[in-house]
Amino acid sequence: MRTNTKKIEIATPGQELSTTEEYVPGKNTLEEDGKVIATISGTVQRDEKDLIVSVRKMKTKVVPKPGDIVYGQVVKLDQRFAIVSIGAICRKDDELIYYHGESNLRLGDSGNRRDIGRNLLRIGDLVRARVVKIFRGTPDISITGKHYGVLKTLCDRCRNPMILKNGTLYCDNCEMTDLRKIADDYGEVLTFGDGYER
Ligand SMILES: [Zn+2]
Repeated sequence: MRTNTKKIEIATPGQELSTTEEYVPGKNTLEEDGKVIATISGTVQRDEKDLIVSVRKMKTKVVPKPGDIVYGQVVKLDQRFAIVSIGAICRKDDELIYYHGESNLRLGDSGNRRDIGRNLLRIGDLVRARVVKIFRGTPDISITGKHYGVLKTLCDRCRNPMILKNGTLYCDNCEMTDLRKIADDYGEVLTFGDGYER
């Protein structure tokens, strides 16, 4: 199941979205010196037919439920479990809902020795996961499935963001390669995760 295949673009107030030659300013944007600027935080909507760029406000005050897709950052990790600090919930394409809370990710369920802790994730990784169930008020999440896993990670050695090269994570600063359980669109969701509050 691929429910969230589109690239998500997050804007913060004051961010330049395009030039006015590329797009007409839409909702929650303004025009300034030939540029279209976001006036609120939210998800960027680019209407490619009418060439309008607008920003959709994110909803707040929701609770995660099974089936939700969540975006977050790995804050704790051992061989068997990771704790992921959720930054947003995604229920429909292009609609992100800000949410702050921790979730539990169980690792190593497959019995495969490669499928444990540090072979899959590192602390600080930005991940996309799916809510499996809610246990005592805390979501249990999973990164099983090709669309789930790490979206952005930093080099262990030099903290440079790693890129995908021939199917392997690679640091073009210090030439280190590494393993993670990555999502199929690794590297395409870069704006989210840098800006959200923790
Ligand atoms: Zn490096």
